[in-house]
Amino acid sequence: MGASTSDTFQSSFDLIIGGEHRSSSSGSTIDLIEPATGEFLTSVSQADTEDMDAALSFATQEFERGTWRRTSATERGRVLLRVANLLRERSEAFAVAETRGAGHPIGNSRWEVNAAADVFEYFAGAANKHYGDVIPVQDAGLDVATREPVGVSALIVPWNFPLLIATWKVAPALACGNPIILKPASLTPVTALMLGDVLLEAGVPPHAVNVVPGPGRSVGQQLISDPRVNKISFTGETVTGVGILQSSAPNFARVSLELGGKSACIVFDDADLERAIAATPLSVFDNTGQDCCARSRFLVQRGVYDEFVAGFVEESRKLVVGDPLSEDTQLGPMVSSAQRQVSLDYLDIADTEGATRALSGEASGPGWYLSPSVLTDVRNDMRVSQEEIFGPVAAIIPFDTEDEAIEMANDSRYGLSGSVWTGNLGRSIRVTRAVRTGVISVNSARSVRTEAPFGGFKASGIGRALGMAAMDDYTEVKNIFFSEEV
Ligand code: NDP
Repeated sequence: MGASTSDTFQSSFDLIIGGEHRSSSSGSTIDLIEPATGEFLTSVSQADTEDMDAALSFATQEFERGTWRRTSATERGRVLLRVANLLRERSEAFAVAETRGAGHPIGNSRWEVNAAADVFEYFAGAANKHYGDVIPVQDAGLDVATREPVGVSALIVPWNFPLLIATWKVAPALACGNPIILKPASLTPVTALMLGDVLLEAGVPPHAVNVVPGPGRSVGQQLISDPRVNKISFTGETVTGVGILQSSAPNFARVSLELGGKSACIVFDDADLERAIAATPLSVFDNTGQDCCARSRFLVQRGVYDEFVAGFVEESRKLVVGDPLSEDTQLGPMVSSAQRQVSLDYLDIADTEGATRALSGEASGPGWYLSPSVLTDVRNDMRVSQEEIFGPVAAIIPFDTEDEAIEMANDSRYGLSGSVWTGNLGRSIRVTRAVRTGVISVNSARSVRTEAPFGGFKASGIGRALGMAAMDDYTEVKNIFFSEEV
């Protein structure tokens, strides 16, 4: 598996600081490894503290000067529309880069680039439609609540959807008039740097565009602790998110966090079982399970449990695992050897806890492939039901009553996503209202829609990406009162 070649890939990438390409001041680089082959892919400049300081200075100067925030919202929208068009024109280059850098099947990568362009189109339109209120106050005069750009925006992105998650932050931040400092994950910085080039070509002012790959524990930490940063939007692990809240607290930076999940897929005995069985395996195994929205806990009503498990295992076994550049592949490799090992360790934990491997995933190479695993004889209090595995491992748990399903779904520190499969309208209303999660779908396996708010309850995060809710996250409200008395 993973027979892709690395000879056509750009051999090195520079940082983008103040709109200019530069190597890092220390000359340090990151060697990227292709997940499908385990071989060297390309080399990327790795920022050090001096580089991050320069990015912070450029972004701060840009905000103070106000080139971008004083550009009319309509014109900012036009620039973002050019970004969308350029992404579509270059979609194959972006898709191949994502496939080779992150291991996504090429069909998925094409879908992601298209979705990234959709995000820029949406926020291009949103730029001049996000306005304040005129408030009927008691005093004689006019009271206006306006929205202003929040300021220097630190955007920190994980490796699982490197381009798409970057666009969820970059597009609304720019639509609202903010300069950005984008820090991609060290494993997958390439498409963020390519996006930086597109932003500049589309006409975002150079000092507003900073794309700064570098180690999270040093330059990431520096970024989120710096008092020049007004807004932090972070996607990644819950434990990192807690550290970000603590480190940024003295600066009162506005913080949005999109963190982990352990989402439930609840299947009732009145569901269209055939549809549920066909759709649900990819709701956990897509992106080889490396998805914060993965429905990794299946709660299935006892009357249809055996039938569901048999069908689910059969469908999961059919998923095509292989070279991500092959058009037929549905599941590519995991992003790294370390990430695959986490899933293998959890399978051992499941054995120790007494679960049964109804389907046992197999690791293969070269590269970091792992086929799907399905666990039965699982209880909701086991570690495999409570902890985020972030790999291709599904746990299936039986339940008897609607109340029991709701209780189990809520018995989790997380609350990001989820699905309910039922033919009963009243039940779908009751259950979606009762489950404490930011996003939930009825008779659908998808979580994210560009036009709708996305984010988590509980330890899954703070704030909302996408939809008009994201525009609130990148602005401050200012109330202005004009007295009638001159
Ligand atoms: P991490 O939290 O390890 O890293 C995420 C990003 O933060 C990376 O760019 C990383 O840099 C950086 N970082 C790490 N430490 C710090 C720090 N102290 N200060 C500032 N930045 C830091 O998460 P992963 O990359 O491992 O991503 C997987 C996790 O992300 C999963 O738990 C998943 O659930 C979650 N996730 C949540 C989503 C959501 O929308 N809720 C969506 C996607 C993923 P570096 O790469 O250099 O370490």
